[in-house]
Amino acid sequence: MTLVPSSRVDTDVAIVGSGFAGSLLALVLRQRDMRVALLERGRHPRFAIGESSTPLAGLLIEELADRYDLPRLRPFAKWGTWQDAHPDVACGRKRGFSFFHHEAGRAFADDDAHTRQLLVAASPNDVIADTHWYRPDFDHWLVREAEAAGVCYLDDTSLDVPAFDQGHPVIEGTRRGARVRVDAQFIVDASGPRGFLWSRLGLGDTPTQWLPPTQALYSHFEGVERWDSLVPSEATPPYPVDDAALHHVVPGAWVWVLRFNNGVTSAGVAATESVARQYGFDTGADAWARFLADYPAVQAQFASARPLRPFTYTPRVAHRTAVVAGRDWALLPSAAGVIDPLLSTGFPLTLLGIGRLARVLEDTSPGRAREASLARYAQDTTAELEVTERLVAALYASMSDFPLFKRLTALYFVAASYAETVRRLGQPDRARGFLLHADPVFGPALRDITARAVAFPVGDEHPAARQRLLDDIARAIAPFDVAGLGDTTRRDWYPVLASDLHAAHERLGVSHAAIDALLARCGFGNASTESQGALAGQVRA
Ligand SMILES: Cc1cc2nc3c(=O)[nH]c(=O)nc-3n(C[C@H](O)[C@H](O)[C@H](O)COP(=O)(O)OP(=O)(O)OC[C@H]3O[C@@H](n4cnc5c(N)ncnc54)[C@H](O)[C@@H]3O)c2cc1C
Repeated sequence: MTLVPSSRVDTDVAIVGSGFAGSLLALVLRQRDMRVALLERGRHPRFAIGESSTPLAGLLIEELADRYDLPRLRPFAKWGTWQDAHPDVACGRKRGFSFFHHEAGRAFADDDAHTRQLLVAASPNDVIADTHWYRPDFDHWLVREAEAAGVCYLDDTSLDVPAFDQGHPVIEGTRRGARVRVDAQFIVDASGPRGFLWSRLGLGDTPTQWLPPTQALYSHFEGVERWDSLVPSEATPPYPVDDAALHHVVPGAWVWVLRFNNGVTSAGVAATESVARQYGFDTGADAWARFLADYPAVQAQFASARPLRPFTYTPRVAHRTAVVAGRDWALLPSAAGVIDPLLSTGFPLTLLGIGRLARVLEDTSPGRAREASLARYAQDTTAELEVTERLVAALYASMSDFPLFKRLTALYFVAASYAETVRRLGQPDRARGFLLHADPVFGPALRDITARAVAFPVGDEHPAARQRLLDDIARAIAPFDVAGLGDTTRRDWYPVLASDLHAAHERLGVSHAAIDALLARCGFGNASTESQGALAGQVRA
C-alpha cells in the first residue's frame, strides 16, 4: 500500500483562481481579518489575456485601496504612480481610446473631418494616464502580496467537485501528488469564464440575446510598428494615438493593439463567427496573416512583428452562466460572464463585483440577510453583464457604418465619465449601475437605442431610421455629458478639458465652486488654464 501525503486547510473563504481578481479579493478579505485560501491550478508568472484598463477601473482600484487600507495597491491606479512605486511590474501607458476604420484591400486614408477615426482622451497627461496591465507581472505581484498578507496560497492544485453536504463547503483536490482538503465557510469562484463552479456544478448558460457568436485570435508580439509613425496626423492629436487602446475596426471584426513598456505588444482580432470562419481563425498564425493581408495598413503595422507565443484561438468569446450565486458560494463577474474585449469592460465589471461581494462577505448579519445580499449581488452582476452585451452587440452591428459606430460609443464614454465624476464628487449613488443601466432616464434610452441598432440593417437604405437613431443618441447623452462628447464639431477628437466639466456643473447638480473644490481635492489647487486640462483629466481618470 502507498501512503499518499495529505494536508488540510480550515478557512473562512476559499477563492478558486489567482488571476488579478482572486488575489485582489483575497487581499481585501484579509484586511478584514478573514482567513482566506487561494487555490490555483497553474503557477505564476503566467500569461493572461485582459490587459487594458480604464479610468473607472483605476478609480475602483483607488476606492478598494482606501476602503481596505492597501496603500501598496493604490499606485497601480495610474501610470505615473505605478512607474514611481512599482517600476519592476511592466505595464502600458493608456491615454485614451483610439479607433481607425478600414476597408478591405485599401490603404488607410482619412479626411479633415476625421471620418475614419475617433480619439477619446481619458487623461490630459502621462502622469495620471491609465494603464494596460502586463498580467504575468501584475497578477504575480498581487498573489505575492496576498501571500505576504497571510493568505494560504496553493498553486499547482487540481480540484475535485466541491461538496456542500457537510454543513459547510468542502473542496478536495491534489497538489503535487498529495491530497488537499479545504474546509471553508464560503467559496468564491474567480477562475474566469466557463470556470470551476460552472463546470463542477453544471450551472448552465444564459445564451447571448443580442450579440452574435464571436471568436478571437491573439498573441503577444515584439517589433510592432507605431501607428502614428505609419500614418502621421496633419495636426497634433489629443494624445499620442499609440499610447492608448488602439482599435482597427473593419466590418464584422476589430483588432486591438496594446503596447507595454517592456517591448511587448498585445494584439488580437475579435470577429463575428462568419468573419472568423472566412479567415479560418482556428488555423492560428495563418489566419492572422490572411486577415492582415486584406487590410494593408494594419499589415504594415505588423510587417516586422514577431509573435512571442503561439496564437490563442477562442472559438466562442461571449459566455454567461445561468446562475451567479448560491447559499454559500458566488462567482465573481469575470467567472459569471465575459462579453467582448471591446471597450475594456472586463476590469471595471470585475472590480465592481469585488467591491460588492467583499461587502456581502464582511457583513456578519444572520443567514437570511446574507442570502438577500447574495441575491442582490447576483442580480446586479447579471444586469451589468446584460447591459454590456447590449452595447457591444450594437457596436458589432454597426461596424460597417463607422459614423454610427462612433456615435454609439458615446453612450459608453458618457456613462463612464459621468460615473467617474459623481464618484469623485462623493455622490456615487447618482451613477446607478454600470453604464448607468439602472438610471430611470439613461437606462431605458440605452436599451431602446441598442436594440434598434441591432435590429435594423444600418446603411443608406434606411436613412430616416438611421437619423432617428443618431438623434436619439444625442438626446440620451445630453443630460449626462460631462466631457463634451455631444459636441460633434470636435471632428471626433475629444481631448480632456476642464471647461467641459465646468459647463456640466448644473447637470451634475453642483456649483462651480464645488467643481473647483473637487479639482483641488485631486491635488491641483485652483486651476490655471493650462492645468485645468490636467484637473479635468484627474476627474475623469
Ligand atoms: C480576448 C479577451 C480580451 C480581453 N481584454 C480585456 C481588456 O482589454 N480589458 C478588460 O477590462 N477586460 C478584458 N477582457 C476580460 C478580462 O480578461 C477579464 O475581466 C479578466 O481577465 C478577469 O480576471 P480574473 O482574474 O477574474 O480571471 P483570469 O485572468 O481568467 O484568471 C483566472 C485564474 O483561475 C485559474 N483557474 C481556472 N480554472 C481553475 C480551476 N478549476 N482551479 C483552480 N484555478 C483555476 C486560472 O489558472 C487563472 O489563473 C478580455 C477577455 C478576453 C476573452
